[in-house]
Amino acid sequence: MAEVKKMAEALKAGATMLAEPCPSCSSPLFRFKSGEVRCVSCGAIVKIVGEEKPSEDLGSILQPLERKVVEILAKASKRLEEVESADVEATLALVDRCLSILERIRNIRKASSVKGAD
Ligand SMILES: [Zn+2]
Repeated sequence: MAEVKKMAEALKAGATMLAEPCPSCSSPLFRFKSGEVRCVSCGAIVKIVGEEKPSEDLGSILQPLERKVVEILAKASKRLEEVESADVEATLALVDRCLSILERIRNIRKASSVKGAD
């Protein structure tokens, strides 16, 4: 079995076998010392999502979240002009929440240097 031999060689070279199977041939994938994830059976190089570029994933989560919070903030600020005084407290609390979430999103983005839409 040539495949088994290749796997043994990969392990000897310091590669680790991963739980994920190769998307093209279902053989076990190996992570090499270089960080490259490769199938020793068919030679396919596989990118494991969420491991190599976590900051990009975070950005893709934060961006729609930020948009949504801005949307809520816009609605809340519009409501402040329309509502009776009884609702002002609740609306202001909502505005406050939105602003602090936005601030946190921007701090996280700054810290991880994820590029924003602005
Ligand atoms: Zn393969």
